[in-house]
Amino acid sequence: MTPPRPGPPLWLLAEITYRCPLHCVFCYNPVDYAARPDELSTADWLRVLREGRALGAVQCGFSGGEPLLREDLEELVAEAHRLGYYTNLLTSGVGLTPERAAALKAAGLDHVQLSFQDSTRESNDFLSHTRTFDLKRRVAETIRANGWPMVMNVVLHRLNIAHVDRIIEMAHELGAEYVELANTQYYSWAFVNRAQLLPTREQLRRAEAVTDAWRAKLGDSMRLFFVAPDYHEGRAKKCVNGWGSMFLTVTPEGLALPCHTARMLPGLAFPNVREMSLASAWYESEGFNRYRGTAWMKEPCASCEHQAEDLGGCRCQAWLIAQDAEAADPVCRKSPHHERVLAAVAQAEAGVVEQPLVFRGPAESRRLAG
Ligand code: SF4
Ligand code: SF4
Repeated sequence: MTPPRPGPPLWLLAEITYRCPLHCVFCYNPVDYAARPDELSTADWLRVLREGRALGAVQCGFSGGEPLLREDLEELVAEAHRLGYYTNLLTSGVGLTPERAAALKAAGLDHVQLSFQDSTRESNDFLSHTRTFDLKRRVAETIRANGWPMVMNVVLHRLNIAHVDRIIEMAHELGAEYVELANTQYYSWAFVNRAQLLPTREQLRRAEAVTDAWRAKLGDSMRLFFVAPDYHEGRAKKCVNGWGSMFLTVTPEGLALPCHTARMLPGLAFPNVREMSLASAWYESEGFNRYRGTAWMKEPCASCEHQAEDLGGCRCQAWLIAQDAEAADPVCRKSPHHERVLAAVAQAEAGVVEQPLVFRGPAESRRLAG
């Protein structure tokens, strides 16, 4: 039976550069990013924006790396705004001076998401290996002064999860309206540092209880999203809301991907927007079609009653943990590889971690790419 034609993407995620002044230990950029210095030109990105809108995308996120390192960001935002996208900037804050904020506002930017690494200068600056905590607090004021909704994102892990109370308090002081407390997803640099970053069950339970208490206290004045981790749950998640169903990511050098880490999967060809239109990439390319729907599944997913709920989980996680991109996501307790996830959680519970943290940076990237 021919599978039904997929609908259009809702989100276009423009990863406009992998360059970044920060060195986060959980960075989601590819570990070998330093070997990929090539970036699409302004003209290429303007075409990608037009093609994405014609395809049906209504939200456009500018991310990186640090997207503010591209000097054409204002021009790209202006075009995205003119095309009718709802535009988002996902930033560390570095480079968001009052002057650039005013220019981005004038270009029509709708939304800024500011990331913090923790609630204290010492920890924020340690985890990003930069002195950026004070700058981020000033940027939060700039965001509010420009009338953008104040949206904060903090990636949670073993080294900061005990500070959730103070993190939420800080967000409240800064006037945040939305706070995403996103437990680390273990891909890319976070996978390299997994033994140091994976929290214990008790740490997670406490962090969730603290978040619930703040929700009860603040009501609707600040919305708190606690994004649960999958390693501890025994259940897979519908990754990117379904492969090739909602998100279309374009990498700095122009690869069109169903999610920002999918390039790691072996034997899967993803098109470059320099050579193929976004519409052809979305509807016709092997990369987008391979894991759409459920027909690709093998056991235990193939006969599982949950297959429509989670679509077998994350392909990148299956590859990273089981070295089999078609396997059930190993976080699922029905997966034949689930004991590898249990072993990682057991190691976190034991607290035995002897290797040093690896901070994202070009020298480490070249070393790990080997
Ligand atoms: S996670 Fe950190 S290092 Fe990676 S792109 Fe974001 S701010 Fe830069
Ligand atoms: S076996 Fe596959 S489809 Fe079933 S719950 Fe696990 S990951 Fe989901």
